[in-house]
Amino acid sequence: MKSKMVINRREFLAFTGVAAMNAMFSRGAEQTTAADTGRLPLLPVRECYCPAHFGNAYEAMWPLEMKAYLAEMKRWGFNRYGDWITTTDVCNPYTTDAYWALAAEQLQRKKKAFHAAQDLGLALNLIVTPNHVYLDQLRPHYAAKKGKRIQGQLICPSHPEARKLILENFERWFRDFAESDIKLSAFTAFAYDYGGCDCDKCRPWIITFAKLMKEIHAIGLKYHPNIEPWFCSWWWVPEEHKLINEWAASEAKGWLKAMTLHIEYGQTKFKDVAVPDGCRKLAFVHIGYSDESKANDIYAKWGPVVASKRMPRTLIDIAAQGADGFQAYSEGIFDDINKALLAGLSNGRFKNADDVLREYSKHYFNASEEQSVQWARWMAEWGDRRKPKLPEAEKEFEKLSASVKSTWRLEHWRSKLALESLDRQIGQPKPDTWTPEKLKLADEFWVQQEHLQRDIYRLGPVRHVFTPKFRPPDWYNSWQKAVKSAPKQQVLPAQT
Ligand SMILES: [Zn+2]
Repeated sequence: MKSKMVINRREFLAFTGVAAMNAMFSRGAEQTTAADTGRLPLLPVRECYCPAHFGNAYEAMWPLEMKAYLAEMKRWGFNRYGDWITTTDVCNPYTTDAYWALAAEQLQRKKKAFHAAQDLGLALNLIVTPNHVYLDQLRPHYAAKKGKRIQGQLICPSHPEARKLILENFERWFRDFAESDIKLSAFTAFAYDYGGCDCDKCRPWIITFAKLMKEIHAIGLKYHPNIEPWFCSWWWVPEEHKLINEWAASEAKGWLKAMTLHIEYGQTKFKDVAVPDGCRKLAFVHIGYSDESKANDIYAKWGPVVASKRMPRTLIDIAAQGADGFQAYSEGIFDDINKALLAGLSNGRFKNADDVLREYSKHYFNASEEQSVQWARWMAEWGDRRKPKLPEAEKEFEKLSASVKSTWRLEHWRSKLALESLDRQIGQPKPDTWTPEKLKLADEFWVQQEHLQRDIYRLGPVRHVFTPKFRPPDWYNSWQKAVKSAPKQQVLPAQT
């Protein structure tokens, strides 16, 4: 058994590419089991996927702020960083005559974040959805056929004109990154959720997707000699895994280097599916919700999320399933504690979640040894936001935070307490039982939620999972019927 110090040093030397890591690690060395050392499994691939999109914190952050945040991610133990090449809601930045266009600003910020991550020694992964294109590249004659799982600004890669455009987009991105001295070690391609085409020529889509990505990989190699092809199985069905395995065995032996396998809500294991020969298994770990998926504590709606039970359990389970690591799926800074837990436990620095939370409070709240014990216990209780007793939890927070400098890491906790208190006072009134007092509490809830999003997380216009219409409080529908002036949840404006 190699010592932790040796493993970490080797890892440091090797984390510029999975192939390099493969050569340096034996499976026995990289996956020390809890039984061996009393610690959680050490996993060599510890990536944080931080898509800067939909108005989330990564999109909102300015470059120096992002650079500082990436340094904290590295500090906790991540060794890889990923971002999505966003084309949603924007026009092609490479053909615009306005250097100030939104797409150009977004792309510039992404490149700066990649550069900052690279400077910190993190390996870089570009997340891609191949047939999702810029708004001004859409044309009716080569539009993709949409369907279940297939959404977004999509074109059909079986149409020669559309395929040419897709390949040109990738050539341009890969060239731009290379010219900016950004060295990509992998791409991870998603087939669905902003991808797909259900036309006769593209069926089965998963094979069309794989062949397209193989062509794209050849382009990537021209600019990034070490770039590895990885897939994420987000929204795949078992039949598609089977098709990909058959295709890989006959047409692409040894080509696919990693498969990131999706873990469903409330689960700590991925589905046990076979992957092509030579392909490593990774887990796609959703860190944007708490321990308890049923608590609706997700995507920054209720402030910080904590999963001090789910994160360690996930690491133990995925290591037992043969995973070499994970891509943590992060939608912003509200999951800061889950980042510390996942990275801190899987790089061997901490032996359990309590140790991570204690260090978190010492580092960010200047807690003493004794206070750190109290902070750790207090934070862990919020793994299920329905559980902590109020007002006792509020009083303890006031005591613990009394001399702590006000930062977003502290203030989002204060906001969580306020939102939880208001939510419990409101309860579950029926549409005709909302009293003036309860309506006032709902108004206060919206004020508090705006304070959280705007003053603490400093977000601007938000889209997708961050809009108030997505995953609202449980009383929302009843309240909407009572007040009538508010929009229904998850509806489009009148389409006329
Ligand atoms: Zn098609």
